Amino acid sequence: MRPAILNPLFAPLTSLPGVGPKLAPLVERVAGGKHVADLLWLRPHALIDRRFMPTVAQAPDGQVATLRVTVDKHLPSDTKRRPYRIRCSDATGFLHLVYFHAREDWLRKQLPEGAERIVSGKVEHFNNEIQITHPDHVVPLDRADEIPAIEPVYPLTAGLAPRVLAKAIAGALARAAELPEWDDPAFLKREGWTGWRAALGALHAPHSEADLGPETKVRRRLAYDELLSNQLALALVRARLRRQKGRTIRGDGHLRKTIVDALPFALTGAQIRALAEIDADMASPLRMLRLLQGDVGSGKTVVALLAMAASVEAGAQAALMAPTELLAHQHMATLEQFAAPAKLRLARLTGRDKGKGRDATLAALAAGEIDILVGTHALFQEDVEFRDLALAVIDEQHRFGVHQRLDLAAKGKAADMLVMTATPIPRTLMLTAYGDMDVSRLDEKPAGRKPVDTRVIPLTRLTEVVGAIHRAVDAGAKVYWVCPLVEESEKTDLAAAEERHAALAREFGERVGLVHGRMKAPARDKAMARFAGGDMAVLVATMVIEVGVDVPQATVMVVERAERFGLAQLHQLRGRIGRGERPSSCLLVYGEPLGETARDRLHILRETEDGFRIAEEDLRLRGAGELLGTRQSGLPEFRLAELPAHIELVATARDDARLILAADPELTSPRGQALRTLLYLWGEDAQVATLRSG
Ligand code: ADP
Ligand code: MG
Repeated sequence: MRPAILNPLFAPLTSLPGVGPKLAPLVERVAGGKHVADLLWLRPHALIDRRFMPTVAQAPDGQVATLRVTVDKHLPSDTKRRPYRIRCSDATGFLHLVYFHAREDWLRKQLPEGAERIVSGKVEHFNNEIQITHPDHVVPLDRADEIPAIEPVYPLTAGLAPRVLAKAIAGALARAAELPEWDDPAFLKREGWTGWRAALGALHAPHSEADLGPETKVRRRLAYDELLSNQLALALVRARLRRQKGRTIRGDGHLRKTIVDALPFALTGAQIRALAEIDADMASPLRMLRLLQGDVGSGKTVVALLAMAASVEAGAQAALMAPTELLAHQHMATLEQFAAPAKLRLARLTGRDKGKGRDATLAALAAGEIDILVGTHALFQEDVEFRDLALAVIDEQHRFGVHQRLDLAAKGKAADMLVMTATPIPRTLMLTAYGDMDVSRLDEKPAGRKPVDTRVIPLTRLTEVVGAIHRAVDAGAKVYWVCPLVEESEKTDLAAAEERHAALAREFGERVGLVHGRMKAPARDKAMARFAGGDMAVLVATMVIEVGVDVPQATVMVVERAERFGLAQLHQLRGRIGRGERPSSCLLVYGEPLGETARDRLHILRETEDGFRIAEEDLRLRGAGELLGTRQSGLPEFRLAELPAHIELVATARDDARLILAADPELTSPRGQALRTLLYLWGEDAQVATLRSG
């Protein structure tokens, strides 16, 4: 159970002063969560210095100032459109306080004529007069200390006044008690860090611009807490998996040999190495939890098939789960082709399978008449029972959350688990996403793959691009035309894609198709099939083609507004071409003006096709949050930790977590107890729940 000391922090936002049911959704939006604690993690991103106290005559245009004035006269507006004005003055001159949509009774109470007031806000010189529109603070002289000398500025949302948010955050801070220290005292001393509560207070009370960055001691301390909690949680999941008994799976190689002998190509060195690592894991009595990481087209599917063949040789079954129906179908087609010589019995199960067909598949599966089941997450529905599942392969897991993914592994009985990802993640970031998961890397391209000729072209030359596409299509090429899809405005993006489709249809007539995320799966699959095998030559697409689609005949890709994509996304997109015999080209079309960083980023793509190098460069040029195209990355989104700024703290947290659990696996020591509090603080309740009660 969550320690009582944390309860006030897990109360709803509405428990805070000034946050009623109306404002709560707005506060929730900026806080990124429903609890008081979420407000604690909201960082100020700027500050306002209110220490400047000029006379009225000296108050400069455009600057925040705090002034001592006498209220002379209220000047209510004669029409609704004109603002309410209040004339104030000091010995040197007068100014107007300006209020739109004002409530007169309230203003008269705040600023009675004849009274002295301290007002603070941004001074404007307007039509030869001095004014402050909606002053931030208005207080009587005896309450001058209520105006903060330096005021933190938080991200806001429409309808939420800064003062309301500041009050709520102050309320949240007041609830935060000092917590037992979970960090090692020697470590704290070495880093020069304060305790948690002091650090939190300082985070919300910056004194200067320098206090706002990620490099301050305060921020590093709090970021470390978050990272340590993350690493500890991952280590706990992993330890739990490791404790469950696995089984020894050792194939005799006869099926694998048949498959390999029939392959139209030789395995790459990287594929052979990865298979050896997987074999060793499967043969060991511990459960395998391995990540197979390799660029698009590096040949992960074949590796997965050969691993699954070993399970079948050992008399058991295997499953392969893909994130979408489309990919499940595609995997099925590939596997069927390669597995045919070995006469493996394959079946498919997706959400679309219903009724009798589904029942028959389930019965065959339970009877052991299916060797390999390919499907979507429908594979993990409760009524799906294998006779003996030995290996679960999960493809393109970056659609799934980190814990979710690991928990999935915990569900399958003693099945080994192989996770395939095409997202090249820098080693340092791997730790945040997977903790200490074992990794096999396919860092070698299959022989015969031709480099993609990549060009960076401004949107102003779109006509030339269309001309080039025309020539390519006339020569028999298949072309992807990718339109950007930004989550916030799916509708407008779709409209843009439809417009592009219409424009290209004027050029290419029936030979242009469109696929997008809002399409129903069957319609999308049909369009994809027409592109892959039929008469369609140009496929206009939103990001749906990002994951795994394989049309080897496609040799040209146009990415419109390439600057809006993450580097890794562009890299993955580009991986869709250059798969066949013919040379391929990729046209990255950008909108102007293009910033320097954006230019550098696009140029990296021109220079290299090495996904790992691209990922490292991306990390260097951008924050990790943006790195992989936010949501899809599967990387945890941190609140206080910021990558790459805190990257070395990730490794420290990993080592720390490892040492802690080695010495105190159930977190029962006094420090262990404090660490439990840390885990609860960061919402890792499920992981603490797996521990023996301490
Ligand atoms: P990934 O899943 O990593 O994107 P795939 O397994 O789909 O890659 O492989 C991409 C293409 O390369 C497939 O057509 C596959 O048959 C082919 N391929 C796989 N391994 C090799 C190899 N060693 N040599 C040549 N082609 C290969
Ligand atoms: Mg694949």
